Amino acid sequence: MKSENFETIAVRTQAERSGFREHSAPIYMTSSFMFEDAEQARALFADEIEGNIYSRFSNPNTTEFIQKICKLEGAEDGIATASGMSAIFTSMMPFLSSGDHIIVSRSVFGSTHQIVTQILPRWGIEYTYVDILDTVGWEKAFRKNTKMVFVETPSNPALDMIDLAWLSGLCKSHNVLLNVDNCFATPYLQKPISFGADIVMHSATKFIDGQGRTIGGVIVGKKEIIAKVRFFARHTGPSMAPMTAWILSKSLETLAVRMDRHCQNALALARFLETHPKVEKVIYPFLESHPQLELAKKQMRLGGGIVTFLVRGGIEAGRKFLDATEGLSFSANLGDTRTIVTHPASTTHSKLSDEERAAVGIHPGTIRVSAGLEHIDDIISEIDRMIKA
Ligand SMILES: *Cc1c(COP(=O)(O)O)cnc(C)c1O
Repeated sequence: MKSENFETIAVRTQAERSGFREHSAPIYMTSSFMFEDAEQARALFADEIEGNIYSRFSNPNTTEFIQKICKLEGAEDGIATASGMSAIFTSMMPFLSSGDHIIVSRSVFGSTHQIVTQILPRWGIEYTYVDILDTVGWEKAFRKNTKMVFVETPSNPALDMIDLAWLSGLCKSHNVLLNVDNCFATPYLQKPISFGADIVMHSATKFIDGQGRTIGGVIVGKKEIIAKVRFFARHTGPSMAPMTAWILSKSLETLAVRMDRHCQNALALARFLETHPKVEKVIYPFLESHPQLELAKKQMRLGGGIVTFLVRGGIEAGRKFLDATEGLSFSANLGDTRTIVTHPASTTHSKLSDEERAAVGIHPGTIRVSAGLEHIDDIISEIDRMIKA
């Protein structure tokens, strides 16, 4: 079925089916594929024809997942990787050489921070961190050797946003690639390519899987860009396994309905927390109190599944809140059917110094909630009970 609609693309994009006329895709658990004859083998290796050779390069399950996500992100081409982190590394390394420079939004995911500050410098790749809200800082950060800008928007866990259309214009004027980690928003809520991003990557582990079952990543962008990423991936091997691709392709079929409910529950929870006497501050992109509400509405369909708030009483109150967890889950993951609460200062961002944490909006009492798909009344009453504890 030809359609421009997100839901229909997500449900109806399918890999070729076998002779059994199966309705759901089979899982192609095979490491390699057979050649028809010497000529076909030669043509496949020469890239003259498309086809599967070996599952490190491609596999029908990864192809189905990738084709679907490319359509959903509005991208020409893409590759699937074994994790979100391998997607980040694989989307950077083809474009960065010794002596190059990368600009990164300060509030990136913990392991991304380690790649940028501990791993890239060993290859002689320099970095500059810019606070996501520091417009002048972004303009000043560009150098002659800058090759890439990497951002997460909304940021984790402070939920600050950057205007992607503005940033991509700035990147284009300096001839620099813009790489966006779209994990928090998913293509259902935000399509960075439509605002001019060159590369979009995901940890598919989060909302794309949506059920806390598997680890995966994805990188999409223009054909020429992905060709370089594919060369790097094919020869360094961060490939996604067929089973994972099958799970994630199935997950995409329900992404729109899941995200609608995640966002609806998150907004209702945020509104409840705003009225709570023991809560100092609530952050959610679609709340009237969010200073960037206008931008959020311009570049996102809905506010996302994450709510961040500050309990009164600092670190002790935060720890008591989490120790009172019973009906919800205390875990570092997010984007699950189950509501997950976490304490960034002692878990995901524990490797940062106090100053580094403050710079990305993490206080000792900051709690991050990934609103799940339980009934909203139960989520609210459980959070209320935990706050009172
Ligand atoms: C989880 C996460 C990652 C890393 O993904 P993995 O699948 O765990 O490797 C990267 N970026 C963001 C924003 C994430 O939340």
